[in-house]
Amino acid sequence: MKCFIDEKEYDFEHGKVRENFLKQFPKNQDDVNHIFDMMETINTEMFSGTEAPEPPYDMNFFQLIKFGMKAKKLRPMFMKYGNKDAYKVLDSFTNSEDLKTAIYSKSPYPMVFMSFAYQWGVYGKNYYPVNGMQAIPDAAVEGLRHLSGQLMLNTEVTEILVKDGQAYGVKTQDGSEYYGAVISNASPQYTYAWVTDAAAEKEKMIKAISKRKIFEPVAALFMSLDENKYDLDHLEGISILSKKDYRMRTEEYTPDTAPIVINIYPKREGDEFRALVALVPISYEYHNNWETEAGRKRGEKYKMLKKEVEDILLNRIGKHMGRDFIDAVSYHELSSPVTYERYTYSKSGSFMGWSAIQSEYGKYLKQRTNIKDLYLVGQWVFPGFGVAGVMASGYYLAKEILKGEGIDLKKDFTEYFTSDRL
Ligand SMILES: Cc1cc2nc3c(=O)[nH]c(=O)nc-3n(C[C@H](O)[C@H](O)[C@H](O)COP(=O)(O)OP(=O)(O)OC[C@H]3O[C@@H](n4cnc5c(N)ncnc54)[C@H](O)[C@@H]3O)c2cc1C
Repeated sequence: MKCFIDEKEYDFEHGKVRENFLKQFPKNQDDVNHIFDMMETINTEMFSGTEAPEPPYDMNFFQLIKFGMKAKKLRPMFMKYGNKDAYKVLDSFTNSEDLKTAIYSKSPYPMVFMSFAYQWGVYGKNYYPVNGMQAIPDAAVEGLRHLSGQLMLNTEVTEILVKDGQAYGVKTQDGSEYYGAVISNASPQYTYAWVTDAAAEKEKMIKAISKRKIFEPVAALFMSLDENKYDLDHLEGISILSKKDYRMRTEEYTPDTAPIVINIYPKREGDEFRALVALVPISYEYHNNWETEAGRKRGEKYKMLKKEVEDILLNRIGKHMGRDFIDAVSYHELSSPVTYERYTYSKSGSFMGWSAIQSEYGKYLKQRTNIKDLYLVGQWVFPGFGVAGVMASGYYLAKEILKGEGIDLKKDFTEYFTSDRL
């Protein structure tokens, strides 16, 4: 991974991250060792559990107290530093702005420190689906079809039908109605707005989340790169940052100043080019909500602004990686936070659900809502946060629904995975 901090370049290799940091920060070797010792301890503590944790909202008062005491005893470093804002922890560990920024470069969004411990901890040890990210939803769809389920694409739900405090189906854009319990993985802000009845419950649910902060939005520059023209030589990531970015808020950035983090994805068999995605935190409100017009219409001004932002980003990448790199980019297209919200109904383009800053971290939303038979799943509910969290949220949803049928999913899982069948 190449990390550019202002004009200076740092390089980090799999399996040698601490050594690379020590070599490139010779004046701060004690700080480096301290930070990495701390991150390793936090990771060991985080992965010390042996089973799927109970969601905090399912615990009674005494279980919560016991959980708190156990966490303090078994996860002291996590409790002391892991759940604190990263910028505060970094400030207390070192005076080197470059070192703080290099640690922050892995994922430059305001978050609690454990996110950075996790990111550096799994660096080089994570796995990517052989057939690309789409393999995950494809596998879920195959499972659904196996159970006689039906997938309908391009079929937008516009209303969630509720009567007497119970959801009984959905209405889609073409007016068709489908009946049954409702599970939504669009953001709760939108899901609640689609509820047709149950005004009192709806108001309560909207109020309960009205003050919550959401995760940073991003603009994403999708690129394909011709390796015959540019040799990536095992490069997997490029980040471009400035000192003090670790203290900045997304709304303070412009395309000229925002950090750029480029992920270079593995090639699938038969792929002609390499897929690269540059994530750039820029606010949803940037330039009048990206120059969208009344009724969220995207006209010429929106397209022009996107083109302008795209040029600035490519120019900044080129300045650091060289013109050859940009010349090897065979295709590129920018998405804005508005794009992301339009396609997925993720509120204000949040790309990880709720904010993960200290004051927000740990406030989990349940899968069950105040309306009977209306459930939430995905990045906005426990345990939240990224692809793995979203998949886990499905387990908790199934557990919750099956509870009503007298099925203890946790027990069944444990029995299944410890049985002779495996
Ligand atoms: C560019 C980018 C890079 C990312 N990189 C990573 C990463 O490296 N690692 C990681 O862990 N996470 C990453 N994430 C975050 C991760 O992708 C999300 O947390 C996760 O996909 C959220 O899953 P979800 O099921 O909650 O919601 P989504 O994946 O947003 O799914 C919601 C679905 O509901 C559909 N929908 C919404 N409203 C309606 C409606 N009214 N009617 C019908 N359908 C509707 C949408 O079309 C969409 O398919 C990244 C996100 C982005 C944008």
